[in-house]
Amino acid sequence: MPSRWNDAPLPESDDPLDQLAHVSRLLGSDPDLVLHGGGNTSVKGVTPDITGATVETLFVKGSGYDLATIPPRGFAPLRLARLRELLTVDSLRDAQMMNQLRCALLDSSAPDPSVEALLHALLPHRWVLHTHADAIVTLTHVPDEGLVQRVLGEEVLVVPYVMPGFDLARLVAMLWAERATEDTTGIVLRGHGLFTVGDSAEQAYERHIALVDRAADRIGSGGGVPISAPALPDVPALELASFRKELSQAAGVPLIVTRHSDPAAAAFVARPDLDVVTQQGPATPEHSIRTKRVPMVGRRLDAYVVDYDDYVTANEERLGATVTRLDPAPRVVLDPRWGMLTAGRTVKDADIAADVYHHTMGIIDAAVRLGGYVAPTAAEIFDVEYWELEQAKLKRAAAPSRFTGYVALVTGAATGIGRACAQELLAQGAAVVGTGRHENVHDVSGSPAYLGIVADAKDPAAMRAVLQRTVERFGGLDILVANAGIYCPTAPIAELDDDVWSDVLGTNLDAVARLFRDAHPLLAASPVKGRVVAVSSKNVAAPGPGVAPYSVSKAGLTQLCRLAALEWAPAGIRVNLVTPDAVFDTALWNEDLVKARADKYGLSVDDYRLRNLLRTEITSAGVARVVADLCSADFSATTGAVIPIDGGNDRVI
Ligand code: ZN
Repeated sequence: MPSRWNDAPLPESDDPLDQLAHVSRLLGSDPDLVLHGGGNTSVKGVTPDITGATVETLFVKGSGYDLATIPPRGFAPLRLARLRELLTVDSLRDAQMMNQLRCALLDSSAPDPSVEALLHALLPHRWVLHTHADAIVTLTHVPDEGLVQRVLGEEVLVVPYVMPGFDLARLVAMLWAERATEDTTGIVLRGHGLFTVGDSAEQAYERHIALVDRAADRIGSGGGVPISAPALPDVPALELASFRKELSQAAGVPLIVTRHSDPAAAAFVARPDLDVVTQQGPATPEHSIRTKRVPMVGRRLDAYVVDYDDYVTANEERLGATVTRLDPAPRVVLDPRWGMLTAGRTVKDADIAADVYHHTMGIIDAAVRLGGYVAPTAAEIFDVEYWELEQAKLKRAAAPSRFTGYVALVTGAATGIGRACAQELLAQGAAVVGTGRHENVHDVSGSPAYLGIVADAKDPAAMRAVLQRTVERFGGLDILVANAGIYCPTAPIAELDDDVWSDVLGTNLDAVARLFRDAHPLLAASPVKGRVVAVSSKNVAAPGPGVAPYSVSKAGLTQLCRLAALEWAPAGIRVNLVTPDAVFDTALWNEDLVKARADKYGLSVDDYRLRNLLRTEITSAGVARVVADLCSADFSATTGAVIPIDGGNDRVI
């Protein structure tokens, strides 16, 4: 692990907070050191008080900030003297400690200080850096308990595992007082991570990297080679979607499930000792919040759920207290054929579980090569998974969005109504796959909950591949918005062009019929019962001359949806239509076309735009909100309906 001190330009100011943000981002940008909000850093300085005095201050990472991106305002300023007073208290519950930390802030608008603030406060050095470096943690998970000290030398203090919080700070304070010398540069917390100290940010950083590098060197020479394995087979989409349904039922809420078939996952699930090494526990108890204590190996979900409930019950008995139970569904599934599946309420949760477990695989692999993998005990893990601060978070958590955990597919998502539908469903919590013929389907959203795929709706193989990728990325399919469609040049039937006819019918009708056929098994396997909305047109009820291919295709689409509503009702799948009209912000329209139409009717452009009974403007976003509503539980008793979004049309009414 090379030092990256000079990789990024140093901050020009010598303000310690700028320097602290800089060194924090250096550490945070390396996933082998910290993942997703892990780790914390601090500097000791002074703050001018309103009375003119100066206050000795600890600036420590605020919770909710990620080291990789933390700005100077992400550090909480605390009265150092008060923190050191708190360390003299014999015992403090963690909720009490957090309250005391907030009371020690010098700025009422500062973020909550890191739960490890007291540990930073007790160390005499000005700069303190803490990460959960994989290489360090690995050396503490082997049967040879003396290994980490031998590898890193006497310059580090090795502390037995205690969960983060007040008790850990007290223990470190005691051991530091007893054993630290002028040569001590760091602290290894078993099963947790590394602290280094220094008189400058650079010194603390270089010490950190040097210790991690020494650990990584030892692991690299641990003997043996990483296991490699052949690539994993393709898995039918329905097999994965059916599993997501079971998993969601076990959780009591719809989950996002992502399949990982990368070489590391493929090699790991091929381990002959998979059942043994993975059931020891996570590399650090904090990971249980992301991955649960152990992954599920194979497909025996019922057994996993029973085991999880037993684990909670046994620990409740040990503690003599009841807890707010988390759902018993696994968040990581390891299967020799599937590879790794990770699950979460949101795409972000499923992705974090994947990142954490990818690192866990590396740690287990390395520890086994060093003689065996020894994880924290189930009780130690439970105490973090059901920590009072985590339980308090559950009670504070906001209600999920309407479509949290749902998976939607929107065709024709690159522009207009399709784009608006994709964005609306994302905004309401769904994971969304958007398809379109052009590259701009990728820029609908930058959220990890969005996947844009270039695919022509008329190409059956491409659309089947879309369904497969939807399931591999998000686990299944709950909502289908069949929006892709094309208009046609104006021409009377007497001058019908064969190519136009087959192109328009092929896109607006044939392609949707095939997509319905191929998507049906997935919609039937939805844990929330599938919902379909097709975008039709006012033209069906109120056709205009000259656009026969378009009108006929949309009429056919309407009948297709009515039949699907009939056929799919037994599976609980709802199929509805919207018939927007005069949505001028779509790709079908441009300024010239609107002007030409307005002229044709002898109207001004504005009058033409508002040419409906309500004289209301119809927008893509407005159509998208209705589409989302139709997919929601509010419309759970509605199927086979045609909802006009046209401002009122006397020919339709
Ligand atoms: Zn930590």
